[in-house]
Amino acid sequence: NRQVLLRDYVTGLVKETDMILSTAGSIRLKVPASSKAILVKNLYLSCDPYMRGRMTKLDCPSYIDSFLPGSAITGFGVSKVLDSDHPEFREGDLVGGMTGWEEYSLIQMPQFLFKIHHTDVPLSYYTGILGMPGMTAYFGFYEVCSPKKGEYVFISAALGAVGQLVGQFAKLMGCYVVGSAGTNKKVDLLKNKFGFDEAFNYKEEHDLDAALKRYFPEGIDIYFENVGGKMLDAVLLNMRLHGRISVCGLISQYNLEHLEGVHNLFCLISKRIRMEGFMVADYFHLYPKFMEFTLPLIREGKIVYVEDTTEGLESGPAALVGLFSGCNVGKQVVVVAKQ
Ligand code: NDP
Repeated sequence: NRQVLLRDYVTGLVKETDMILSTAGSIRLKVPASSKAILVKNLYLSCDPYMRGRMTKLDCPSYIDSFLPGSAITGFGVSKVLDSDHPEFREGDLVGGMTGWEEYSLIQMPQFLFKIHHTDVPLSYYTGILGMPGMTAYFGFYEVCSPKKGEYVFISAALGAVGQLVGQFAKLMGCYVVGSAGTNKKVDLLKNKFGFDEAFNYKEEHDLDAALKRYFPEGIDIYFENVGGKMLDAVLLNMRLHGRISVCGLISQYNLEHLEGVHNLFCLISKRIRMEGFMVADYFHLYPKFMEFTLPLIREGKIVYVEDTTEGLESGPAALVGLFSGCNVGKQVVVVAKQ
């Protein structure tokens, strides 16, 4: 059973060599009797920015435990059930949810997985548009941003797993949507594939405040925050009265030992801005509502999704590390096996 192990706790910028591909692990191909566990073959693994946080040794409890050095890392994935001692799962079922970065996983608490019923869409979508990032975009936008037709919406890391969907949801709502991304290719996709009104390459802008003023001469009503740092500071200066900022993620800070200072927080007061963090896990129980909304949009071609796939478990560490320099064009997925 090949596995991707965490070598040791990580400080600073995560590197491919912080993970090791091990071929030494073995697994029983039968689930122990009365264990209520299931054995799965992993098909697709999701690379997500929060996984960097799990590589750090924590001084105080967080919302999720750190990975254990020397053990296989875990993450969201799509898997096929090979054997089951759990009444709700049968051999051949397709499931999504937390699994190991390995070829086969014994899942002790399968009740936290969801069964995949709709296979007319690519299975890998259950790591992205129909999985955790899709729910993040959906609840983060509709619930946290309280959007209204005609509002001015700005999204950072806009071509990522979450951002590309937030932009499309905002367009469906009748908003004016601008996204930022780190390459001109991504900017082009945002405008020409995802229907953003405008997009810009933040790496080519010396003055983010000036760039935002160019795209939002009347200011921003909603900022969907994925990156933090300098971008957040510039956005604060450009928010409108009673604007809303949903703090989804701060990826520019994940490899730093100390968070960069944000200087313009007084804007929260002067412009009566509501800035609210959220955790997608708080919405997991609403998965059926999310599916009811999103699946028809995919089937009718009203929303599209771009994935960036790499082949083989061994490609996982580089794919994961690549998130932090923007190597991924769209949702980063590792294909471990085709059914
Ligand atoms: P993406 O698919 O967007 O991948 C990460 C992207 O972030 C990269 O492609 C890169 O794009 C950009 N990026 C990387 N480093 C930096 C940097 N230093 N400064 C600015 N941009 C950077 O990831 P997701 O869509 O999966 O996640 C987006 C955000 O949402 C993350 O912050 C993540 O932690 C958060 N999140 C939060 C959840 C919640 O429950 N609150 C749940 C899921 C995700 P580029 O080329 O544009 O630089």
